[in-house]
Amino acid sequence: MKLFNTLTRQKEEFIPLEEGKVKMYVCGPTVYNYIHIGNARPMIVFDTVRRYMEYKGYEVNYVSNFTDVDDKIIKKAIEEGVTSEEISRRFIEECKKDMSSLNVKTATTHPLATKEIQGMIDMISALIEKGYAYRAEDGTVYFRTRKFKDYGKLSHKNLDDLQAGHRDIKVTGDFKEDDLDFVLWKPKKEGEPFWESPWCEGRPGWHIECSVMSKKYLGDEIDIHAGGEDLIFPHHENEIAQSEAANGVEFAKYWMHNAFLNINNKKMSKSSGNFFTVREIGEKYDLQVLRFFMLSAHYRSPLNFSEDLMEAAKNSLERIVTAAENLKHLQENAAGGETSGQESQWLKEAQGYREKFEAAMEDDFNTADAVSSVFELVKFINTKVSSESSRAFLEKLSDLLRELCDVLGIILDKEEDILEEEIENLMKERQAARKEKNFKRADEIRDLLLEKGIVLKDTREGVQWKRA
Ligand code: AMP
Ligand code: ZN
Repeated sequence: MKLFNTLTRQKEEFIPLEEGKVKMYVCGPTVYNYIHIGNARPMIVFDTVRRYMEYKGYEVNYVSNFTDVDDKIIKKAIEEGVTSEEISRRFIEECKKDMSSLNVKTATTHPLATKEIQGMIDMISALIEKGYAYRAEDGTVYFRTRKFKDYGKLSHKNLDDLQAGHRDIKVTGDFKEDDLDFVLWKPKKEGEPFWESPWCEGRPGWHIECSVMSKKYLGDEIDIHAGGEDLIFPHHENEIAQSEAANGVEFAKYWMHNAFLNINNKKMSKSSGNFFTVREIGEKYDLQVLRFFMLSAHYRSPLNFSEDLMEAAKNSLERIVTAAENLKHLQENAAGGETSGQESQWLKEAQGYREKFEAAMEDDFNTADAVSSVFELVKFINTKVSSESSRAFLEKLSDLLRELCDVLGIILDKEEDILEEEIENLMKERQAARKEKNFKRADEIRDLLLEKGIVLKDTREGVQWKRA
């Protein structure tokens, strides 16, 4: 298995630190709003990496944090007149719902920054002791960047260029020894959440969170550290400096970064206002379509979001789902019996598509090619099966298709029968809630249905539903 390592700028053979095991850390979102579909890209991409590793028999310890203390969270809390904790708790819940709709597996551990403050204080103390960090006179603790000789090795930047970049934007009121030094711990401001520390009442910098959570849940040395490419500098560069200075060993062997999801060839981001939330897209499409759309491109290629491409993804996915349903239907009605000689031959041929799929995934997780091999398999299935096929033959083809789709995190069962009953029941409950003027519950039910792709419409004949 080969993967592109940002550290060496090369595709490298993946050799785990410990045989049969993978320790993987993926930087998670800052939770102050609904996640946008750009944030969903690393979630989907690295969940697929995890799924492929598991398919190959690795035991994957997958850690992904929620950053639940941050300026943006505090700002939102002030706007709404609630605590930061309430904001982060709310949007962690919402984010988990989105991840579940995208069929992103729950991480082995989803640590929260605010629950790991002691670990951060310990690591900062160790860095101070070793001379890699210092407390400035206002109580801020800085990392002494120039002391870490490998600084810049991930982003391939050199210190002098960085220094030149800093010269024009010197901030007054800083008590830094050097422009390049970055914050590990900062003093509280009025009204902000804070913790006691040996340096001042305050809160941690963003970078130290990930170094500490990675160390606690995966150990000093890990296999893969991942995130979007905007995290390479300064976030991941700073994580390396902190972790390697504190622990004295190489932090992560492989660094993986996904390219951006764009709109009109510009990065989708909240700050520039050009974004769609996962929730919004979920109102129009089954979120499986979004997942499929993301995987139709290589993770290191920029991907432009458009209605046309989503429609294309919807149609493509439909073809795969239809083939799976057709197989299921034929299986239910198959006359029975063992595979014939001809069918055995075809099954061997079908394994060729598995090999193609694996070859694509082994080549730096080329999901675009892997998806193509699934299509070839679908085409093959459609031409080889009929009402004459044996049940064993149909079953084996169905298993193969399902296994490959499962690696991509694509669900093939529509489960319409169960859902319909569920929908009717929920609609009755909603009706009752409305009668009792319990509009909160009524709205909750509407949102719940929406999450499942069901849109409610008030008509003269009463409330009606349709699939989005
Ligand atoms: P943030 O909440 O901004 O820290 O982002 C969480 C994750 O989403 C990080 O891994 C980011 O790199 C990633 N990310 C943010 N915007 C985009 C985008 N437009 N395309 C791809 N990844 C993104
Ligand atoms: Zn991080």
